[in-house]
Amino acid sequence: MSRDPFRIAGPAVISFSGGRTSAYMLKRIIGAHGGVLPDDVAVVFANTGKERPETLDFVAECGARWNAHIVWVEYDWDEPHRTRIVSHNSAARNGEPFEALIDRKGFVPNPRMRFCTSFLKRDRIDSYARYWLGWKRWSSVLGLRADEPKRVRRQRACGARKRTGATVQLPLADAGVTERHVRAWWAEQPFDLRLESHEGNCDLCFLKARWKIEAIMRDRPELADWWIAQEAKPGKSSAKGHCPDMRLFRIDREDYARLFDQVQRQGVLALPDPEIDWEGEDCICTD
Ligand code: SF4
Repeated sequence: MSRDPFRIAGPAVISFSGGRTSAYMLKRIIGAHGGVLPDDVAVVFANTGKERPETLDFVAECGARWNAHIVWVEYDWDEPHRTRIVSHNSAARNGEPFEALIDRKGFVPNPRMRFCTSFLKRDRIDSYARYWLGWKRWSSVLGLRADEPKRVRRQRACGARKRTGATVQLPLADAGVTERHVRAWWAEQPFDLRLESHEGNCDLCFLKARWKIEAIMRDRPELADWWIAQEAKPGKSSAKGHCPDMRLFRIDREDYARLFDQVQRQGVLALPDPEIDWEGEDCICTD
């Protein structure tokens, strides 16, 4: 009999992004263990401060309904191992961890230097496993589906992360789960994430396709301020490799202020443009 990909052996950390896919994965893993996760299988949600409130509520609701202990972590330079343990009540909601990281670096992340993923998410989750749980080696369980072959290939190619001791496991991809399965499953559930799929992760993440950014700016114009403010910062001239372009999240399209201005004056294109979301390197910002 073949092994159930959702019966994860510990020590393992499940990265819960707060999206439908990773929530589905979590529920399948809980189910594969008879309804209760083993003590050496942890669930961690890394909050950037730019998650939508609906995402935070969803993470809390999944934990409560499924009786799963979900650890909430945030980047904080002044805390041991740069990691603060928070909760639904105390989690940052105004981009504070993300902005503190940008201020420390002196420039904003971009698709080629996506340090937000590594500092705000991956490293915080790894810190929790290494320093709070005391593990030297563990499985890092990510919610990449079978219909995300590029990302799956990249993660598999990485193999064991020698630097941290984490070995990537992708049970959804192993089980052949696609977005269609996930959507069908959520349609049957008594609760759901109260966001459209393009609204997940950081609210106006620079990796989102332009039509998504425009649509979100139209529906929630107040969200643009934070991103415009980050690009308006002067930046540290002493920052390694600093150049004027490094104050922008994307150099291949308008800055956030100009995008926002266009949305305000011209509205949003009726149809999604053909641009697809950036599929860059190692990213655990799954949906
Ligand atoms: S969702 Fe986007 S902005 Fe947020 S951490 Fe991931 S890559 Fe960075």
